[in-house]
Amino acid sequence: EAAGMVTTTNPATGEKGRSYPAHDLDQARAAARAAHAAQREWRKTSFAERSAIIRKAGALLRERADRYAGLMTEEMGKTLTDGRAEVEKCAFHCDWFADHAEAYLADETVDLGAPGEAFVTFNPIGVVLAVMPWNFPFWQVIRFAAPALMAGNGALLKHASNVPGSALAIEQVFHDAGVPKDLFRTLILPSKHIAALIEDEHVAAVTLTGSVAAGKSVATAAGGVLKKCVLELGGSDAYLVLEDSDAEAAAKVAATARMVNGGQSCIAGKRFIVVRAIKEQFEAAMVAAMKAYAMGDPREEATKLGPMQSVEARDEIAGQVEKSIANGATLLLGGEVPDKKGAWYPATVLTDVAAGQPAHDEEVFGPVAAIIAAEDEADAIQIANASEFGLGSGVLTGDPERGRRIARDELEAGMSFVNENVRSDPRMPFGGVKHSGYGRECAAYGIREFVNIKTVHVK
Ligand code: NAP
Repeated sequence: EAAGMVTTTNPATGEKGRSYPAHDLDQARAAARAAHAAQREWRKTSFAERSAIIRKAGALLRERADRYAGLMTEEMGKTLTDGRAEVEKCAFHCDWFADHAEAYLADETVDLGAPGEAFVTFNPIGVVLAVMPWNFPFWQVIRFAAPALMAGNGALLKHASNVPGSALAIEQVFHDAGVPKDLFRTLILPSKHIAALIEDEHVAAVTLTGSVAAGKSVATAAGGVLKKCVLELGGSDAYLVLEDSDAEAAAKVAATARMVNGGQSCIAGKRFIVVRAIKEQFEAAMVAAMKAYAMGDPREEATKLGPMQSVEARDEIAGQVEKSIANGATLLLGGEVPDKKGAWYPATVLTDVAAGQPAHDEEVFGPVAAIIAAEDEADAIQIANASEFGLGSGVLTGDPERGRRIARDELEAGMSFVNENVRSDPRMPFGGVKHSGYGRECAAYGIREFVNIKTVHVK
């Protein structure tokens, strides 16, 4: 590979794709300076003006859904069907914030019971650096960018190194929609330059979606210069399978939760904590439900499981499964790396998963369901919470009231869903606790992360 070029690899075939020239740190700094200047103007635009542009971005995304889905398939192996759905979700998100940003950021009057006027207003913060992952190449970026731009901010995107084409396509969408060129810029930049860019005087804040390790280094750099940061990190979402649930219905939700994006989702269900009374039934139902996810060409409509994002990532998953089995887990399905080119890994079910096994202790970023036995509800809750992560969580039960209580009061997670799989939605806050990060995206909470919440008192 030529110096300064980034070349993609198709994970389904192992073939090299297109090459893109990388930026260096000087170019990144120049982009930050230009974005800062552009933001000084953008902050003066009205919500109506911004709204028309972000709505247009949504319309362009819809128009180009097939092309962009194809790009994701080539760069990181997402099935075309999932890619189209992802682009549609991005368009909905643009529409949502085009319609609701003004209300989310409306001044709030405070009655101090004294003469004069007191209110809270939300000024934009400036240029936000976004460091984003490859697993939802469009959604992760749009989730942040649509509200950020609506709030009057500028943005620099440093996307994951394996999805440069998607990163540039998103920049194109915003520019075509009328976002000033300098206000939103994609930088093809190695992550070693991120700390220096965070320190740049023209960058006001940073948001990162990615691994715990990346989160720690970004938070450290941001802490060193006291800049705001939002972190959306990993997860090992637990779903409690209670003894009063219908095993087949529970397994269906569980398999859907596990297999989101080929298992490569922060909010994929990863640990299924099953009360012993229903364990055997659930194991059988889970194997049947997971079998439906056969590996196939991600370009085919019917395919439910494409390749992993890279051979390296696949090998890591295979290693975690092997080590879990060596340390006492039982393999019920899959677990074998197929003998063909590309980053393939099959739908896999492990049971008797326990502490000391990677499937229990770590995030497994692939199609591997880990079944963990619990004695009863209290034991299941304790196991679910005994994790370094706290992103999503679920309760599968025949009694919605019981599920509601556990979801509301017991699970240490940013999101808890009963009898359905965890998903993100622009209308509800999204984020985690513990090592899953801090801060929120989406809804009013998300758009208010990157603003100056200003108190004004006029006597
Ligand atoms: P990753 O290695 O952390 O990469 C994510 C982004 O961070 C990429 O742009 C990467 O750039 C950059 N990066 C990596 N190391 C960095 C560092 N030391 N300093 C600054 N930037 C750095 O993440 P991944 O493993 O590919 O992605 C999967 C992880 O993301 C999983 O843990 C998953 O759970 C998490 N995730 C979380 C959410 C959420 O919303 N909570 C959503 C999706 C994924 P390069 O590609 O150039 O290295």
